[in-house]
Amino acid sequence: MKQKITILGSTGSIGVSTLDVIARHGERYQVIALTAHTRVEELAAQCRQFQPEFAVVGNAAAAGALELLLRAMQVKTQVLFGADALCDVVKKADVVMAAIVGAAGLAPTLAAAQAGKKVLLANKEALVMSGQLFMDAVDEHGATLLPIDSEHNAIFQCLPHNFQRRPERHAIAKILLTASGGPFLNRSVESLRDVTPEQAIAHPNWVMGKKISIDSATMMNKGLEVIEAHWLFGMPVDGIEVVIHPQSVIHSMVSYADGSVLAQLGNPDMRTPIAYGLAYPDRIDSGVSQLDIAKIAQLSFQTPDLQRFPCLALAFDALRAGDTAPAVMNAANEVAVQAFLDQRIGFLQIAELIEKVMGRVANRRVSDLAGIMEQDALARAAANDLIN
Ligand code: NAD
Ligand code: MG
Repeated sequence: MKQKITILGSTGSIGVSTLDVIARHGERYQVIALTAHTRVEELAAQCRQFQPEFAVVGNAAAAGALELLLRAMQVKTQVLFGADALCDVVKKADVVMAAIVGAAGLAPTLAAAQAGKKVLLANKEALVMSGQLFMDAVDEHGATLLPIDSEHNAIFQCLPHNFQRRPERHAIAKILLTASGGPFLNRSVESLRDVTPEQAIAHPNWVMGKKISIDSATMMNKGLEVIEAHWLFGMPVDGIEVVIHPQSVIHSMVSYADGSVLAQLGNPDMRTPIAYGLAYPDRIDSGVSQLDIAKIAQLSFQTPDLQRFPCLALAFDALRAGDTAPAVMNAANEVAVQAFLDQRIGFLQIAELIEKVMGRVANRRVSDLAGIMEQDALARAAANDLIN
């Protein structure tokens, strides 16, 4: 029996890599639904190749445009649009790849967990926003949650098979999250004042979507990942350490009480964690070339400088504050990154803006998605207000 898969965000960097792996294993997977926000031409081409039952886009205009393209190609995929349709198509699948970027991915990813699906989680913002609520839904509905973020996938691979989010029971001392440090690792803070979006997007090791590329340059990406690791593995904040490792060959490590440190290595290509998630607990060919360790020759490590990367410090603060502080931080970051991409604020103002928003929006304890989205909206309003 083929596994039916829905890919949320199929036109993005993760979505395209997922389809690349699936195309190598047509005997194992059947694509049931593909979704994209506005890039209908790319989505139409994907529908022609993978013949899903459903395609979902963001609005009626995009749906009309997609329908015309599909009709011209004689593709029978049914076109839907809007947020509810995203939640509907996750229910048709056995496996859901959650690869929408940002807060827009939370509702359908949570719906997949609530429907007890196998959820391949790339969309870290969803977990950062909803931590406890999301993990409770996974437990309550018996969903299988597999991390796709390369660091968390590496950690998952280094954990014992019977791991149940209780690190202390397995004598796990620490999780070591590796970070490349992004394109500005060795630059002075002052020299970053006038960097352009193009310079910030140019990541030394990974090719990714724009938002996560900017997050990598500010190191907010690693901050989001610290919060993600806390929820995925039940690790207390003080047990998570960030290590700069510019080569991006070690994708993360787990340090045990006996002094052993287990690491997962590989070429920096997201098809490795994607293939691992798809086939788990088996392994399949991902199309990624084998690591040539002698050619790499050197692996180096250093401690991150929180003065140079204030976003990383803000994320630790948000995790320590708990409740909706991470959701507020995430929303402020999304607005700040977009404003930087639109050249409305400078690179250094990203962290300044997030810190101000975190100071303005009071932390709250909420127990449902609506409460989280309210805090998200308050933070976005505060951020836009400050930018204007
Ligand atoms: P991307 O920008 O390349 O793609 C985003 C996808 O989401 C696109 O298909 C887009 O159509 C869709 N989308 C955007 N806004 C939407 C909206 N409002 N409603 C519905 N769909 C929308 O992003 P990416 O780099 O593929 O990243 C996707 C997610 O995976 C992010 O959360 C990112 O942090 C995470 N991630 C990415 C990588 C990577 O290597 N790219 C690695 C680890 C984690
Ligand atoms: Mg990562």
